[in-house]
Amino acid sequence: MADKLTAVKGMNDILPPDSARWEWLEDKVRTLMARSAYRMIRTPIVEPTALFVRGTGETTDIVEKEMYSFEDRLNGEQLTLRPENTPGVVRAAIQHNLTYDGGKRLYYMGPMFRHERPQRGRYRQFYQLGVEALGFSGPEVDAEIMLLASELFANLGLRNVRVELNSLGVPAERQAHRAALIAYFEQHRDLLDTDAQRRLLTNPLRILDTKNPAMQAMVQDAPQLLSYLGEASLKHLDTVQTLLTGCGVQWTVNPRLVRGLDYYSHTVFEFITDELGAQGTLCGGGRYDGLFELLGGKPTPAVGWGMGIERVLELIKEQGAELPALVADAYAVVPDAAALPVAMQTLQTLRRAGVQVQMHAGAGEGMGSMKSQLKKADGSGARFALIFGADELAQNLVTVKSLRDGSGVQTTQSLADVATWAPTLQSNA
Ligand code: ATP
Ligand code: MG
Repeated sequence: MADKLTAVKGMNDILPPDSARWEWLEDKVRTLMARSAYRMIRTPIVEPTALFVRGTGETTDIVEKEMYSFEDRLNGEQLTLRPENTPGVVRAAIQHNLTYDGGKRLYYMGPMFRHERPQRGRYRQFYQLGVEALGFSGPEVDAEIMLLASELFANLGLRNVRVELNSLGVPAERQAHRAALIAYFEQHRDLLDTDAQRRLLTNPLRILDTKNPAMQAMVQDAPQLLSYLGEASLKHLDTVQTLLTGCGVQWTVNPRLVRGLDYYSHTVFEFITDELGAQGTLCGGGRYDGLFELLGGKPTPAVGWGMGIERVLELIKEQGAELPALVADAYAVVPDAAALPVAMQTLQTLRRAGVQVQMHAGAGEGMGSMKSQLKKADGSGARFALIFGADELAQNLVTVKSLRDGSGVQTTQSLADVATWAPTLQSNA
């Protein structure tokens, strides 16, 4: 036998019955987004590498070490599998002039790629749901998108998801803070690990983000960006907080919550659970008023978030939600291939009426015995078997046998008015 091929490490197959959870979540998302007039955007999975170098940022973990980049064999272009979707959405917005007549509220769902060490909640191909509100500068839109995330968690039945919030102010405020921060870290140089030493001059804000236990106490006492914010920035933050509180969303300020890039401004936030260990950040986002210009567009304020779908599904499992059952309403038993034309027409009518029907499939040389087909019908979990036997067909009838209630009751139904009795087969109608 030939060698078996397996999926790439850190990239998962999503199989039934698990895939039903994914579809369930995606349906909830679509309903929720429509209610706030957020519209779907789909951008390519492959983009020019330069988009992420500029738009995600050269000094981020993503660009420094996590991207799947390659050269197009045919024309030598430098390309990358998208590690996140914000740069792609902004590129598309600039390219198609999406904000020419005002703001646009967009959402996406799809695969992202990052070369990380695979572990629970951290994969090399993973799925993100994200929203981007483009062209709006007001704090009410920051609150609106945070409410979307919080409503989604509620609609999915999740509990105990915390909201942490901070403000990054505007670039001038960050410059003053940055100088103080570098001076502070230089005083504590002996405590900085190699990552922090490297970031000291390129991206000192990110040092605040460190997970190194040996640095926690020192980082705790570092100058806080919050105390460098002017009146307008404080007001923006205060409005977001007031609106969230008014809508019943609790939040805490985390002064160490940062994004170390200059195109960010004002609000940053995370939705966090303590029930998934180290991979507890479900959703992260913020305002990125400088990104459009960085990617060659007109100055355009924007705010958004990205959510890891695997982590959300992990939490749903962790909190004990049941998997949706994957069984059809009825299983069609077709003892003789001669009955297939009538059987298949009938199933088509039933399916058009919304009944879920699984048809028995033969083994090539024949359909198999009645007994073995009924056994399959039973094993499928369906509530009814539809038996297309020769005797029934001669009278233009089909037998409906009850499989689940232990009664084994059999009735016949007319093939002349299938749509009339179709609803009696539906359990989830
Ligand atoms: P982390 O600190 O966990 O690496 P991040 O800051 O890299 O997260 P973002 O770029 O903000 O994450 O992405 C938004 C969300 O996408 C995260 O909060 C997380 O839920 C999810 N996510 C990020 N990377 C992965 C991954 N490799 N596998 C699964 N989900 C991920
Ligand atoms: Mg990461």
